[in-house]
Amino acid sequence: MSFDVLVPEPSRLETVYGADTFSREVMQRRLPKAVFKSLLRTMDHGEPLDPPVADIVAASMKDWAVERGATHFTHWFQPLTGLTAEKHDSLISPDGTGGVIYNFSGTDLVQGEPDASSFPSGGLRATFEARGYTAWDPTSPAFLIRSGRAVVLCIPTGFVSWTGEALDTKIPLLRSMEALSKQAMRILRLFGTDAGVSRVLTTVGPEQEYFLVDKALYYRRPDLVTCERTLVGARPPKGQQLEDHYFGAIPPRVLAFMNEAEEELYRVGVPVKTRHNEVAPGQYEIAPLFEISHVASDHQMLLMETLRRVADRHGLKAILHEKPFAGVNGSGKHNNWSMATDTGVNLLDPQDETHTNLQFLVFLCAVVRAVDIHADLLRACVASAGNDHRLGANEAPPAIISIFLGEMLTDILMQVEKGLPKRTLKRDLLDLGARSMPQLPRHSGDRNRTSPFAFTGNKFEFRAVGSTHSIAWPNTILNTIVAESLDMIATELERAVGAARSPAKLESAALAMLQKIVKEHKRVCFDGDGYSEEWHVEAEKRGLPHMRTSVDAFPVLKSKKTVDVFKKYGVLAKSEVESRYHIAVEKWVKQLTIEGETLATIARTMIIPAAMRHQKLVAETVTATEGAGVDCPESVAALERFSGFVGQARTAVLALEAELLHESADPWKHAQRIQGHLIPAMQEMRAACDTLELYVAADLWPLPTYRELLFLQ
Ligand code: ADP
Ligand code: MG
Repeated sequence: MSFDVLVPEPSRLETVYGADTFSREVMQRRLPKAVFKSLLRTMDHGEPLDPPVADIVAASMKDWAVERGATHFTHWFQPLTGLTAEKHDSLISPDGTGGVIYNFSGTDLVQGEPDASSFPSGGLRATFEARGYTAWDPTSPAFLIRSGRAVVLCIPTGFVSWTGEALDTKIPLLRSMEALSKQAMRILRLFGTDAGVSRVLTTVGPEQEYFLVDKALYYRRPDLVTCERTLVGARPPKGQQLEDHYFGAIPPRVLAFMNEAEEELYRVGVPVKTRHNEVAPGQYEIAPLFEISHVASDHQMLLMETLRRVADRHGLKAILHEKPFAGVNGSGKHNNWSMATDTGVNLLDPQDETHTNLQFLVFLCAVVRAVDIHADLLRACVASAGNDHRLGANEAPPAIISIFLGEMLTDILMQVEKGLPKRTLKRDLLDLGARSMPQLPRHSGDRNRTSPFAFTGNKFEFRAVGSTHSIAWPNTILNTIVAESLDMIATELERAVGAARSPAKLESAALAMLQKIVKEHKRVCFDGDGYSEEWHVEAEKRGLPHMRTSVDAFPVLKSKKTVDVFKKYGVLAKSEVESRYHIAVEKWVKQLTIEGETLATIARTMIIPAAMRHQKLVAETVTATEGAGVDCPESVAALERFSGFVGQARTAVLALEAELLHESADPWKHAQRIQGHLIPAMQEMRAACDTLELYVAADLWPLPTYRELLFLQ
């Protein structure tokens, strides 16, 4: 017997990981040393790219892609639609003598000009002057997308108008990372911990929740097809009450899908790590390891696209909407965020004797201050039609932004408020009472699932982000507002410490600063149950903003405070901020209008006709029964009652249709009208339809039911 058979095969994931990315390692192998070094200076230190370097990188990237079957390239960007965009160009052109040549120059790599007239610009450009450029982001690796025999080289780019205004989500994110780095470096210099550090990076690990629905059923639901959510549907007797789905065994078809999706993600370098069943039936989660914000953000977009693409191949549809089904949990995207030096030190790691770790406390309190000052902006950046069903709906974080710190940190901040902190509450060991099992170290605080912004050990978790959202925007905001607080703190400390830099002076100035921040901003910290009615009352007493709906929250996006902070840190100019406000409002109005029209159509052309068939059946039965000389007063009563339900549905359609005629030149006014009138009309309509569903004969009901959608996997 040979021992060779015992050598394990490399895991499949190991062999495919990064196979389709033009990663640093690939570049190092393929590029001349001097070119690679020059590129590193651009990637790591933001130095301008030499045009000859771009030509060489382009040639190498082209060879790499062609060897792997690529025929086309595209600048891959993230316009303000919230999706990604690509326009493919052939890597090959005719050589004029009957053959073809491959070409892809430095200019092709660095700059593109897609016809940009149809992307939303929120007023930044008129259509007639619609020039928009894409510009290569060398810090996010190029990759290949494959579909059937098509292989396309994708080059991550930013998207700007010819006036230089950002028309995408990536450029502001990169600007915000710069802003944060600059301010965080000042803090490190004060504490003398900046040796060897050239930048502070923000890191993000997003957890993505989604539903899977059988594809054949999906296509029979016009609401899912057009709105990605069900607009009608009576609750099934069994939903998530038994809590038997969460972390349960993954159904075989779903596992096969997950496996393939993960493999594709691995190929393009997305480090996916965990997968599990979520709370609602048919709901799942996938999470990658954290990466630098903008790479994490690019990868998040790829992840959403990959889930959708691969699900289809398994006879499934991946539904990313925040609330596809009423009555069961919706989906979110927990945005785990931290700051780290480029030498790999996590600045939000509290370490053992946390109360002595002043630098950590400074970074922590900078976040607390930022979140308190800009709670409204954090709320507004996750406002969307889908998220309206989720935030504050007793299953997702409440619409009031507060911070959960946990017992240990809360205790330290309380000590800071009074003076010099003297202790760190220690975590103890968890004794399982069974001698064969290990003793587990207990975390310093329990989890709090009801907090929208929770400290979870060595990072903050912003949980209000919606499952369809790009994480670029919330992270742009987080970075910018924390940069502002770090700036304030650094300025104050630099002044107090002076040129001499004595540690004693620094300590007393830092403590005084922390004390001030705790006093002024502790109101935003809350460790209790965020779903409870008491908290709503308490939050109002504390003066925390509570914006229940998107319509309440949108105006924050263009408030003076918001415009000022973006402008001050060079993240967005006033025009750029306002464009984002306009786009958000318009998108919300359009989505609600589409939902309203879809619902009216479903009611008018599917549900009411089915109800009439049912009614006729009952009426004929009554006539036939009575004709046979048998009294059937119960059937007559049932018929009367049912005809009443049909009447309610008819009335509701008329009201809904009348409301849909309403227009307004001002999108904000239109949004208010929709909130106040169209949404209630849709709720009435839905209630009428859901009642009919409970009575109409199952074989006459025209739509797959919740039971089928949620449980047929
Ligand atoms: P949970 O207990 O909430 O599931 P995990 O430890 O599994 O937490 O992490 C959830 C996400 O947080 C993962 O994507 C993980 O990579 C990410 N994460 C961990 N540390 C950091 C960090 N320092 N910065 C950003 N994200 C992080
Ligand atoms: Mg988590």
